[in-house]
Amino acid sequence: MPTTTEQDLVETSQLAAQWARIRGRLQHEVGEVEYRTWLRQMTLAGVDGDEVTVHLPTRFLRDWVRSRYGDRLSALWHAESPMIRRVEIRVGGNIGPIAPLAEPVAPPPDPPPAPNGAAAPREDRADSRGDLTAALDQRFTFDGFVVGKPNEFAYACARRVAERPASPGFNPLFLYGGVGLGKTHLMHAIAWELVSGEGARRPVSVAYMSAEKFMYRFIAAIRSQATMEFKETLRSVDVLMIDDLQFLIGKDNTQEEFFHTFNALVDAGRQIVVSADKSPSDLSGLEDRLRTRLGCGMVADLHATTFELRISILESKAARAGVPVPGRVMEFLAHKITSNVRELEGALNRLIAHANLFGRPVTLETAQEVLHDILKAHDRRVTIEEIQRKVAEHYNIRLTDMSSARRARAVARPRQIAMFLAKQLTSRSLPEIGRKFGNRDHTTVMHAVSRIGELMERDGSFAEDVELLRRMLES
Ligand code: ADP
Ligand code: MG
Repeated sequence: MPTTTEQDLVETSQLAAQWARIRGRLQHEVGEVEYRTWLRQMTLAGVDGDEVTVHLPTRFLRDWVRSRYGDRLSALWHAESPMIRRVEIRVGGNIGPIAPLAEPVAPPPDPPPAPNGAAAPREDRADSRGDLTAALDQRFTFDGFVVGKPNEFAYACARRVAERPASPGFNPLFLYGGVGLGKTHLMHAIAWELVSGEGARRPVSVAYMSAEKFMYRFIAAIRSQATMEFKETLRSVDVLMIDDLQFLIGKDNTQEEFFHTFNALVDAGRQIVVSADKSPSDLSGLEDRLRTRLGCGMVADLHATTFELRISILESKAARAGVPVPGRVMEFLAHKITSNVRELEGALNRLIAHANLFGRPVTLETAQEVLHDILKAHDRRVTIEEIQRKVAEHYNIRLTDMSSARRARAVARPRQIAMFLAKQLTSRSLPEIGRKFGNRDHTTVMHAVSRIGELMERDGSFAEDVELLRRMLES
């Protein structure tokens, strides 16, 4: 008889597994972008009798998820655990990091068919081949890809491979770059182009899958003693695309299998396209011979986006959605969300959805409100040193005066402003701030904060000055 704690543990882990499966199904049903935009921040808050409570970090997300996915969530829960009859969606939980987390586990049992043309005709392929091509995202086409300096080379290479697969010098094509910069988009675009290619070219069969999927399938094949079949089906495609190859690091058997498949295909004049988060030479943990072969064709990287590219992407996506988004709002977003196009897109999607839902135009104010969780997670961490430097520069005083004992107003006032901003813009405590300003007492900081506040209320131009500094530091 398990003790209560053991029992609890078992139940908790069962619950976690059920929740992970439900999330996995939802993600599969709604697609990755939609999932990330609306559902990723759901957390399981608890189960009470026949009711499950799910948390979301903002009211807007809660309302949205409730109205759009509430029924589906209930149905999925009920299917997992028949005693569950209601799913309550509430505001609560933490604002998670926006960068991708571990994906939900457990692939859904029956994946929907790939969109038309995503794979060579289904009739003439064995079942095991049917899902060689995961559903390709309809929006990930070359047309939908915005080209700018940071990605033009990778784009050109992808186009070239789509036009003439397996040409010398471009095989394999190795695309690499940080998260959300367009690797998967370009791979799908190549696949779309190849399978829907007009003209007299013979139909091209394409297998696209993540390295993770590759591993799952390989392991499943070993279990069901169907490795030969697995090998044969993979080796019979014209183009093999493996996304996020870094996943194979440390998975030696799968790596080995991939290496052999890779060689067999290249020797047979087929095209390989691989993506990873680093260049072949930086992917430590890959077998040397595989690394060498990966670097033999064309290696193209996607650089971090520039402000200009982010603006172009936003313009293009807003135009596609047919919703007017003011330039100021786009600049604001392009300024705040810099690391990852997926998040930029997610933020824009949310604004557009909000505008459609309430029939109100997109404005800077609504953007700040509707996106406050995302923006918060992206708030740049300003340091006290930066604040001191900026303020000293602005008032033309020496940086050392920030911590000196001088009391002349020309020095003391900017110092107070810097303390005020340190309190506003960082999460440092008053004593910590005091220490950074020449070991001053926390009451000195407190005084500075209230003094500057007063002055700002009284003197409009002074307030503007401080606001300006704040904005400069925040951007
Ligand atoms: P990665 O695979 O590099 O992590 P993705 O290809 O999944 O990134 O891109 C993330 C999201 O950003 C996708 O929705 C994709 O359409 C979009 N995206 C990235 N770069 C561009 C671009 N240059 N133009 C249009 N959309 C882009
Ligand atoms: Mg990707």
